[in-house]
Amino acid sequence: MHTEKPAILIVDDIPANIRLLEAFLSPDYTIYGAQNGIDALSIAEHQIPDLILLDIMMPGMDGFELYGHIRKINALRQVPIFFVTSLNSTTNELCGLNLGADDYITKPFNLDIVSQKIKNHIDRKRERDRLEFIGFTDVLTTIANRRRFDEYLDIEWRRARRTGSTLSLLMIDIDHFKKFNDLYGHTVGDECLRAIAQTLNSGLNRAADLAARYGGEEFGCILPGSDGPGARTIAERLRKDVEALKLPPENYSATVSIGAASCVPSLETGLSVKELIQQADAALYAAKAEGRNRVCTMPGLETEGK
Ligand code: GH3
Ligand code: MG
Ligand code: MG
Repeated sequence: MHTEKPAILIVDDIPANIRLLEAFLSPDYTIYGAQNGIDALSIAEHQIPDLILLDIMMPGMDGFELYGHIRKINALRQVPIFFVTSLNSTTNELCGLNLGADDYITKPFNLDIVSQKIKNHIDRKRERDRLEFIGFTDVLTTIANRRRFDEYLDIEWRRARRTGSTLSLLMIDIDHFKKFNDLYGHTVGDECLRAIAQTLNSGLNRAADLAARYGGEEFGCILPGSDGPGARTIAERLRKDVEALKLPPENYSATVSIGAASCVPSLETGLSVKELIQQADAALYAAKAEGRNRVCTMPGLETEGK
């Protein structure tokens, strides 16, 4: 991660102000410019810059208001934000810092000083990102770990409850993996686990989907916005992808059983995250009981596959 140049979003209604900073910063950073709050939000949300420079006085949405909108976007909570402004009163500076801005720079400013401040904040942010990445990654398979799974499921559960959208969950368990380990040894078993994890991870197409190692030889997929039939289609595709893998040492073909559960989280139904996991687990149990290498869904326990 983070091998490319860090990205900075500069928001200023006067293009010449953006160009001045861009000319100075572009050798070291990828620069995005926005002249109003709406464009800034759209760029920030899609590009996830490493730092944002915000002008305050702009027609329409001002910098203070824009700051609040940016911080509401989950992926941008940790991004350093500097106000860069000609409003040099203590009241305004206090207001900006009070909102939580990482710095408040008044015009005219010294480009070298601003550039050094930017570098310091970006270095620290990248270190935070690195630690977070390590804390959320499973060492063996390099996909998301259980901690990330729990946190992400909680975030997406709340979002679905707020927006009234569907949330689906897949619990995936490798079939007869103990036999595989007994036959070929744990080192080959680990290699097989890694290959299956990568297959599951790359088999999910939407940016919001997450594949994680839930524990041992079990995986979990969180599919925000997918309904029951959608989740079943994805599960069936993952099942086939794993079956098609040719694993060491002898082009062995492993299979997985998948339990799927979907719901629209709402306060009325009173269903909890824990119950959604239990439903997916129960479906997985049914898939095992019905012969493995298949997808089962809850409720209804209809089956598909072999
Ligand atoms: P089932 O089809 O019912 O799921 O059978 P199973 O043998 O897969 O299930 P069981 O829960 O009895 O065994 C799981 C096995 O997964 C036990 C262990 O050897 C293996 N396993 C769990 N974690 C790891 C791991 O990190 N590396 C390796 N190599 N094997 C693991
Ligand atoms: Mg198993
Ligand atoms: Mg298991």
